Amino acid sequence: MPLYLDIAVPVPLRRSFTYLPPAGTDASTLQPGIRIEVPFGRQRLVGILMATTRHSKVQADKIKPAGRLIDHRPVLNKTILRICCWAADYYQHPIGDVLHTALPVLLRQGESTAQMQERLVANITDPNQANLKRSPRQLLLLQSLIASTKGFIRPELRQKAFTNQIIRGLIDKGYAKWTKTESLSLPFDKTQVIRGAPMVLTAEQSSALNAVNEVGTHLLFGITGSGKTEIYLQAIERILRQGKQALVLVPEIGLTPQTIARFRSRFRVAVYALHSALTDRQRLAVWRQGYLGEAAVIIGTRSSIFTPMSSPGLIVVDEEHDVSFKQQEGFRYSARDLAVLRGQIEAIPVLLGSATPSLESYHNAVSGKYKLTTLKNRPNLAKTATYKLIGTQHQELQDGFSTPLIHLMKKHLDDGNQILVFLNRRGFSPVILCRQCGWTAECDRCDARMTYHISLAKVICHHCGAQAPVHRVCSKCGSDQLIPLGLGTQRLERALNDLFPGRRIIRIDRDSTRRKDAMEKIVTNINRGESAILVGTQLLAKGHHFPNVTLVAIVDIDSGFYSADYRAIERMGQLLLQVGGRAGRESKPGTVAIQTHFPEQAILKTIIDDGYSVFAEQQLAERLKYQLPPFTHQAIIRAEAINKDLAMQFLSELSQCTSPLPPVTMLGPIPSVMEKRAGRHRAQLLFTSHDRRALQSTLTQCVRLAEQSKMGRKVKWSVDVDPIDLF
Ligand code: ADP
Ligand code: ZN
Ligand code: ZN
Repeated sequence: MPLYLDIAVPVPLRRSFTYLPPAGTDASTLQPGIRIEVPFGRQRLVGILMATTRHSKVQADKIKPAGRLIDHRPVLNKTILRICCWAADYYQHPIGDVLHTALPVLLRQGESTAQMQERLVANITDPNQANLKRSPRQLLLLQSLIASTKGFIRPELRQKAFTNQIIRGLIDKGYAKWTKTESLSLPFDKTQVIRGAPMVLTAEQSSALNAVNEVGTHLLFGITGSGKTEIYLQAIERILRQGKQALVLVPEIGLTPQTIARFRSRFRVAVYALHSALTDRQRLAVWRQGYLGEAAVIIGTRSSIFTPMSSPGLIVVDEEHDVSFKQQEGFRYSARDLAVLRGQIEAIPVLLGSATPSLESYHNAVSGKYKLTTLKNRPNLAKTATYKLIGTQHQELQDGFSTPLIHLMKKHLDDGNQILVFLNRRGFSPVILCRQCGWTAECDRCDARMTYHISLAKVICHHCGAQAPVHRVCSKCGSDQLIPLGLGTQRLERALNDLFPGRRIIRIDRDSTRRKDAMEKIVTNINRGESAILVGTQLLAKGHHFPNVTLVAIVDIDSGFYSADYRAIERMGQLLLQVGGRAGRESKPGTVAIQTHFPEQAILKTIIDDGYSVFAEQQLAERLKYQLPPFTHQAIIRAEAINKDLAMQFLSELSQCTSPLPPVTMLGPIPSVMEKRAGRHRAQLLFTSHDRRALQSTLTQCVRLAEQSKMGRKVKWSVDVDPIDLF
């Protein structure tokens, strides 16, 4: 009987394809997870072998032979392959694309997994032949090279404190040279794990550490500054001593040089970071370190969840509530949820840490699905911040600042401290308005106003990036009465300059940190410690440690109460406590001042007086009452098209042909909240269900119809399972 290959190909189709093994293939080499070149239409693509079978539904004479086998050993190990298959199914996404997401770009293109490595080797065999009397370090290096027989790779040289200068000196004299060899997998040295001494844990921390060593998913719910990171470090240390690896996922804006440095100063073994500034080649290198077991710890953002570990020991998801763990386009997966799945498959502990857990995780923890461990205290001298509500309903505001807030800021500055002014909107003002005729600068391509950026003298659409110059007069009526309305960080910066002349003001938002290393420089500058005013967006809220900040001022919290999205309140609560956590992290006590039009607002009081768990429980009660997630499950099919009605027509057709399996309800289609974005008209179809399975079957049915639909080819459509916003 012939053998068939079931191969996933990187095309936007929700299925795999059947091929014959290339002539003369030894069947034992056909392991699932290897890459194979395949002819596909007129192209040759890099496919992934999913399985081999003896039966095929495809007509025998239509099956083509596959091309070259690229790997001897699967690039996607059993775990990663299983996660990908599960995710393709669960998120209703084409398997070929899922598998490609899981691989570094160079591996998608067919690059070898073998790692060529440069080794420094000796050119002579007897150190006495060398004339190195005046270069004792070079002589020492030469002696070590000769003694080692196979030479050293760069990290080994670095570890032994041989500088580039010493190495170059020896090479220039002809006593040593670089050679290229395939690197052998060298597991890290589990007897030399620690560099810096771990902290002595508090009793609360110790019991948390013991708890999280168990296999299973743990929610480590600890207030900001309660020493969660210290728990991660010591939990990781424990598994490293067993020779196992750890994967640490952090939010997109949490992967700061400070974070990486904290891990590197603790561990002597290799800690690798997967961040956006890496080249494709560097990414591949880190992937290989995981694959070969050389990396002890890998820290990275969302997509790092697919990094293989040859001996997995632990997965940490830090700030697990962060929305950046959910990919918002293409393959819309949740890295946090895949981490939980991966922990189950690999039978290792998964640690979800947060001071403000997502309601989903919190619910899973209190209902017993995850194990809950809490940290209620700060181990060092730092007191938790005092919260102060400043009602602005009867106040004259000066560019957003009330008089009591200005006084408070002045006091903290006069004491020589730093203050942090928070506003989650960059630019100068969100609106520019003609007082004469009422014209506002709007984006041609979106249903949105454009934000005024004063330094560029431009308006920019924050949804599609479109830009236009700002003229002195109204483009509609010619009046010169153009006024900026509303607040952005640039406007606060200017106002602060007027309010506190001569003070150092540092703005931190996406505009001021665009350049490479800009953020690092700013943070270093801040932590020199002099009195200063930091003003910025949520970029400030995460991962950073500013020991000299004693006052956090939240200029406008109210927008959280007005959103159409039921998750806005959850986010507002999280943000409030996260930003608040930046105040008084060390010996100086911290204050958080919040300006609001509604100082009597019960939710605000709950967060401040009763803490996150009471807030979370109240929010969960609301969600239960209105049957919202996590008590129901949701999925959205979105469509967009340049032609105004096409997206709605397509989704109507789809909804008419779909028969939702009870108890699934189907809502829509309705135009999206921002109907037009980047020149496309958008609409959506929302599915809700108590029953995951019924939801999945309904989606499968619907997606199949969409794939076959003629209209479906004219629109751009996508599926979002467990959406984190409904827009
Ligand atoms: P989190 O990650 O919960 O915000 P961190 O782990 O960053 O908290 O700890 C907050 C601060 O407390 C840090 O400065 C850290 O060095 C310190 N810290 C943590 N654990 C201890 C401990 N057991 N004893 C003394 N200081 C500690
Ligand atoms: Zn006008
Ligand atoms: Zn736009």
